[in-house]
Amino acid sequence: YIRNGESLEVATRLNVIVFDKTGTITEGKPNVTDFFKKSRLGKNKIIALAAAAENNSEHFLARAIVNYAKQQSVDHLECSHFYSRTGRGIEAEVEGKKVLIGNRFWMDDQNVSVNGLLDEASHFAEQGKTPVYMAVNGKETAVFGIADKAREEARNSIARLHDLGIETLMVTGDTEKTANYIAAKVGIEQVVANAKPDEKLEIIRKFQAEGRQVGMIGDGINDAPALAAANVGFAIGSGTDVAIESADLTLVQGDISKVTETIELSTDTISVIKQNLFWAFGYNTIAIPVAALGKLNPMVASAAMALSSVSVIVNSLRLSKK
Ligand code: ADP
Ligand code: MG
Repeated sequence: YIRNGESLEVATRLNVIVFDKTGTITEGKPNVTDFFKKSRLGKNKIIALAAAAENNSEHFLARAIVNYAKQQSVDHLECSHFYSRTGRGIEAEVEGKKVLIGNRFWMDDQNVSVNGLLDEASHFAEQGKTPVYMAVNGKETAVFGIADKAREEARNSIARLHDLGIETLMVTGDTEKTANYIAAKVGIEQVVANAKPDEKLEIIRKFQAEGRQVGMIGDGINDAPALAAANVGFAIGSGTDVAIESADLTLVQGDISKVTETIELSTDTISVIKQNLFWAFGYNTIAIPVAALGKLNPMVASAAMALSSVSVIVNSLRLSKK
């Protein structure tokens, strides 16, 4: 579904596309696949504390932890205080304990050393999993490895964009190793990791300042400003209403292959429109001077008229065969 006709024309001139990682390149269905603890607290207790805290968060990593706790059928604990910091993590109070969950920056912000978890975390990231740290009462407690598979069609769709001469870049709040793994898996050329939400916007503005036409593909609420700033914004998958409102070109039932198809189709459509104009003018430009010289047989003249419409139709039909 294409909201804006102009964006079809712009889509043919894109020379760089910026991708969000989570839910765009990946399926957005994360699972806890690994758990490593460094604490006297038992595994079930730690997971119960984590789930009670993350139950208050909308973040996709939070959902993975809550689901994991359900699978392990750990006790349900009450959370009495909750605070969430975008791009970092959360802080919560559960059974009088202060629980911190989030990335490395979040632990650094709170002056929690995670030295005992780093090796394991780095191991997870090398496998494309997102390491999520947890601390209880200011002490490193555990690290979760959370995996989110790359979408099946991503690799092929991205290769086709490269065939069209389009550069690709992935921007994510995730760690570098995790991001690099996923990018390599789908063939994305450049990666910006540890990006804060407004950095996506800055990157798009920077490309535009260099005179480039930028496409942005994303789905999250924090992608909305970047989707709006791009020359063409593609909101894919379960794109939130906010994202859809601000995107010039919206794809409802989405995956990346739909974006590639749209760009390929736009390119074909525009070139057929140009060819049609050429042929329509072409016949008339040749036929009119000949007619003016009085040398055009009326039969030939009407045949030329008919031919010009026929070639326009035949040419356009090629599009619908795709
Ligand atoms: P992106 O959407 O690009 O993956 P976000 O800005 O949503 O980035 O998140 C960046 C990082 O912040 C996540 O990869 C994660 O490490 C951390 N984070 C944010 N919220 C939470 C949360 N509720 N639980 C655990 N980690 C979180
Ligand atoms: Mg996101």
